Amino acid sequence: MAHHDLRTRFPEANLKLDHHQLLIIEKYSKRKSFKSGETMIEAGARDPNFYVIKSGEVEVIEYSSGNPRSIWRSYPQELLGDASFLSGSASHLSRVAIGDVEVFEIPPENLRRIIDDQPKLGNIILSTLIMRIQIMRDLKLTPLQVIGSRFSADAFRIRDFLGKNRVSFAWLDLEGNLDTDELLKRIGVREADTPVVVCRHDWTLRNPGNRELAEKLGIFTAPKEELYDLAIVGAGPAGLTAAVYSSSEGLRTIVLERTASGGQAGTSSRIENYPGFPTGVSGDELAARITLQAQKFGAEISSPCEVRKLEVINGYPVIHLEDGAKVFSKCLLVASGASYRRLEVNNCTQFEGVGLYYAATAIEAQMCSGSDVIVVGGANSAGQAAIFLAQHTRKVHLLIRGSDLAKNMSRYLARRIEQTENIEVLTNTEISGMAGVGHLDRVEIRNNRSDTAQWVPTTAVFTFIGAVPHTDWLPEGIELDQNGFVKTGQTVANSPSWSMNRPPFLLETSHPGVFAAGDVRSGSIKRVASAVGEGAMAVALVHEYFNYQGM
Ligand SMILES: Cc1cc2nc3c(=O)[nH]c(=O)nc-3n(C[C@H](O)[C@H](O)[C@H](O)COP(=O)(O)OP(=O)(O)OC[C@H]3O[C@@H](n4cnc5c(N)ncnc54)[C@H](O)[C@@H]3O)c2cc1C
Repeated sequence: MAHHDLRTRFPEANLKLDHHQLLIIEKYSKRKSFKSGETMIEAGARDPNFYVIKSGEVEVIEYSSGNPRSIWRSYPQELLGDASFLSGSASHLSRVAIGDVEVFEIPPENLRRIIDDQPKLGNIILSTLIMRIQIMRDLKLTPLQVIGSRFSADAFRIRDFLGKNRVSFAWLDLEGNLDTDELLKRIGVREADTPVVVCRHDWTLRNPGNRELAEKLGIFTAPKEELYDLAIVGAGPAGLTAAVYSSSEGLRTIVLERTASGGQAGTSSRIENYPGFPTGVSGDELAARITLQAQKFGAEISSPCEVRKLEVINGYPVIHLEDGAKVFSKCLLVASGASYRRLEVNNCTQFEGVGLYYAATAIEAQMCSGSDVIVVGGANSAGQAAIFLAQHTRKVHLLIRGSDLAKNMSRYLARRIEQTENIEVLTNTEISGMAGVGHLDRVEIRNNRSDTAQWVPTTAVFTFIGAVPHTDWLPEGIELDQNGFVKTGQTVANSPSWSMNRPPFLLETSHPGVFAAGDVRSGSIKRVASAVGEGAMAVALVHEYFNYQGM
């Protein structure tokens, strides 16, 4: 694709700054010149400077085919950079001077100052960067290839990790792909070494761990400060929102995230009930936007960076990370969320989103209208889903482990289920196997009384077997409810660990200065909007805590 095509297709991605805006840029930058053919920014370099072209032209080069290819040409008064310039991660594109080029050179910290101090210009820069992320993703302009078998759990892990981190890559499935033998030979890899990740044939990683891969790609950012005002564990909607409020209110803020920013919301293809998005928004896009917003205010987001342990020493939280490093902070927000409990079936993750669902909304209902579906679970969430799905599908099989539907379900729901003709309740029944190529097409159901099993055809299974909170890293002093969710506010006022002569703040845990927000919190409403609300609220309470402590 020629670069002028891209420029015409995406005019918003190369707005020209006007004279007044260039005068502002000049205040935050210094002049620099490049000779013709000189590489101004090398693909893969970390923390590059941001440029605005004063005179001359610049070629933007990508490497998705393994060979350098010009995709874009930038002209005077235009910006040279993408979102990696704010996050500190590596860009996949090189920029080369065509003829002599003069630029305004803006170091990363000044780019942030422009965004903070000059909102109008800052908005133009941010919208351009967001647009460029989108273009890179839509056009799959990536030098990365993952090669492996679709049946390999590690290949799934790597693809899942890259996907959640919004890193585009090309996927080469060894199954049924005749060209892969040739390719593997060319890069000197045996089939047994797969999955492999190949970058523009510069480097090849054999079955890398998530951290190793992130470091190689330049998307891992280690904590920079010695002491933070607020450390946030988890970059789901609650943690990210807290980071926006905290950093915008001047607190030194770090978010520690074990996989990728976005949390559960990031896995939702369309959130229909988030206010302000009448046509819905993908969880992925929402997460990318909040992440950029937090980074714009200067919050650090360190990912992948798993928190293994929390200690409180002299009242200060000390956070132990997976690589042995420690982070110190004055306050801590537990925003580590929860996961829907998975079925105890070996290959169930393979069908997530392609036949196995953890929600029953109009979107899922549409996908299986007129067919037979299975709902698993004996509590209200499963009951509500069964009744809702019965209106859209031919038949709902409701599987419960025990023998009595009314045991864990409200009576009115159990009665409505019994009265709904196209719901069949199968008691003492569990799913013990799942199968299908590319999409679920049958499941094995087992009667745990008679110990007999049979395969039944179905294209959709909805499971509602409870959520598991991510709290295994918390110390004993932080009180949990009987299901493992973190207790806060009045419910911990009489806890033996509560040491203050004031009542705990609303989202404060049994440890003063340690707060909890979102799905991980006992009694919270498990929704994106409420997680966002709690994240914002937690920061207001952190300020109250600092005032109280005289910090
Ligand atoms: C498929 C799906 C669809 C959904 N659809 C909707 C919807 O349409 N509307 C709606 O309102 N809600 C929806 N939800 C629910 C919603 O996503 C959650 O309520 C919301 O994401 C909770 O946000 P949170 O920040 O509290 O936690 P989470 O989103 O769970 O985020 C917690 C984060 O903490 C990280 N973490 C956990 N432990 C550690 C550790 N030890 N160290 C570092 N990081 C850690 C996790 O990796 C995760 O990124 C959906 C959920 C799912 C799974």
